[in-house]
Amino acid sequence: MLQISSLIQSELAQIRGNFTGKDIVSLEQFAVDDIRLLFSVAREMKRVAVNNMPSARLAGYLVSLLFFEPSSRTFGSFCAATKRLGGQTLDIQNPEAVTSVYKGETFEDTIQVFEAYSDVIVLRHQLAGMARRAAEVASIPVINAGDGNNEHPTQTLLDLFTLHERFGRLDHLKGLLVGDLLNSRTLHSLMRGLSLFKGNTVYLLSPQLLRLPADEIVSLRARGLRIVELASEEDIPRDCAFWYWTRVQKERFASSADYQAVARQSFVATPELLARYASKDMILMDPLPRVGTIDPAVDSDERAVYLRSQIRNGLYTRMALLALVLGL
Ligand code: ASP
Repeated sequence: MLQISSLIQSELAQIRGNFTGKDIVSLEQFAVDDIRLLFSVAREMKRVAVNNMPSARLAGYLVSLLFFEPSSRTFGSFCAATKRLGGQTLDIQNPEAVTSVYKGETFEDTIQVFEAYSDVIVLRHQLAGMARRAAEVASIPVINAGDGNNEHPTQTLLDLFTLHERFGRLDHLKGLLVGDLLNSRTLHSLMRGLSLFKGNTVYLLSPQLLRLPADEIVSLRARGLRIVELASEEDIPRDCAFWYWTRVQKERFASSADYQAVARQSFVATPELLARYASKDMILMDPLPRVGTIDPAVDSDERAVYLRSQIRNGLYTRMALLALVLGL
């Protein structure tokens, strides 16, 4: 099984109120005010998308979508975000099969080629650290669309936007984080995001083998995030503002037998579990795909936002991010 990469992220440019020309690789680059700025642009973008307002904000710009790993939402929403703002995309899904990577071209050369054609590169890669590497190679902005089991910063921006829309704040929230705490990049970025705001508590529930590594716990606590590890479902506190469910990350396991052994111990969100432990005002989130981890019977519960606002907010926040990094 892969471990969370221990990247030295201190050299990444901090946003400090100015996204223009910056790579977006990690939540480490954000401060509270940067998140607020992105939210204000995302609210504007929501009006554009909801009202089908024609926009030429990205007219003349081309965004390369280089996805070395499969994706539905991140790929689809970046593609839609670019097009809703009048820009164009160069879509490469599975570059290992359809580009010169197949012939043995290096990652660095591939990045430089797409840099020459476009204004932004959105990169998903199966290895932790590759977004960081691409950002070092390219002089145009690189947006990390998920690098291995490391980070998924744009997912966190949409998750925080969803929480903020629902609760009007991002501080003093209690959240239950369930599933693959070892490998889920969405959880890693989310915890970094929550640690920027005061007074947040996360309760962690995972199969024993998929616990958050001790050094990550120490570093997140040092940033002010309160972390409580739960031993079983019976320990779930009844006053959580949100539950964030994740699947066991099958693709991070060395063999399917290893995966099966752990997947058997994974937790499933059911109407019964919600009835027992969820508050009436909470929301249930999932970055998806859910792969058996949320019973479809939960979908009709209005607290379930994973197929509703959480998806839509991915479009608005990515529209905002593209406009901001391009300085438009
Ligand atoms: N779609 C999210 C990701 O790319 C979550 C997942 O795949 O489980 O990390």
